[in-house]
Amino acid sequence: MRIDIITLFPEMCEAVMSESIIGRARKSGALEVNCHQLRDFAFDKHRRVDDAPYGGGMGMLMMAEPIALCFEHICEQTSTRPHFIYMSPQGSVLNQSKLKELANYDNVCLLCGHYEGVDERLIEEYIDEEISIGDYVLTGGELPAVVLADALARMVPGVLSSDECFELESHYNGLLEYPQYTRPAQWHDRAVPEVLMSGHHKNIEEFRRREAIARTAKKRPDLLEKAELTQQERRFAADCLSNSNK
Ligand code: SAM
Repeated sequence: MRIDIITLFPEMCEAVMSESIIGRARKSGALEVNCHQLRDFAFDKHRRVDDAPYGGGMGMLMMAEPIALCFEHICEQTSTRPHFIYMSPQGSVLNQSKLKELANYDNVCLLCGHYEGVDERLIEEYIDEEISIGDYVLTGGELPAVVLADALARMVPGVLSSDECFELESHYNGLLEYPQYTRPAQWHDRAVPEVLMSGHHKNIEEFRRREAIARTAKKRPDLLEKAELTQQERRFAADCLSNSNK
């Protein structure tokens, strides 16, 4: 997958996307990330990319044309037109099922707004969808873009050691992940559940599945309705819910 980020602060995105798992995936070629300085596409000598909003009001707005030119430049480098996303507090809130959908694209381009946002005409003409990372407002789209890019990159084949790494994690199948433990087997007065040390894979799998359902019922009961559960698991979830309401 190729991810392009259009931003006024490429160093900010580059710094996050160069470390750890994502940094290694870029080096190995499993993932391509390019951070573009929007000012390189400004057309006046001051490299200006913003102006005052028509009708007055607070702050400045990012102009349409430099963004359009930058996106066209990216399109010339990619075999298919990138799916163009504007990171915006007005977009639909990011979740794992949206990420599964986005993982089907070969090319994704993320636009980071700044100031008061972006000229509406650019959004109408170029943007495929607006995505938010939550119902609050940040100063710029850089943090939202790297949040989306990191979460998306984890689903690209070759970025993690195996698909299992993300398929068993919280949210992928609608549940939270089961609890996990490492050495020592006894810490303070707390012991690791015995089944996990039994070496009995089927029992361990069953234990983890039940724990995942139980903790979803406890911490995020709102997720249970959409989770894929057998009838027996649904009855178990209902018991967990009624116990936690007592
Ligand atoms: N005036 C805009 C509004 O009220 O909808 C908010 C602009 S915000 C100060 C500047 C930029 O930060 C936005 O253009 C967007 O790119 C980014 N941003 C802020 N909050 C965000 C959020 N929750 N999710 C995604 N992007 C966000």
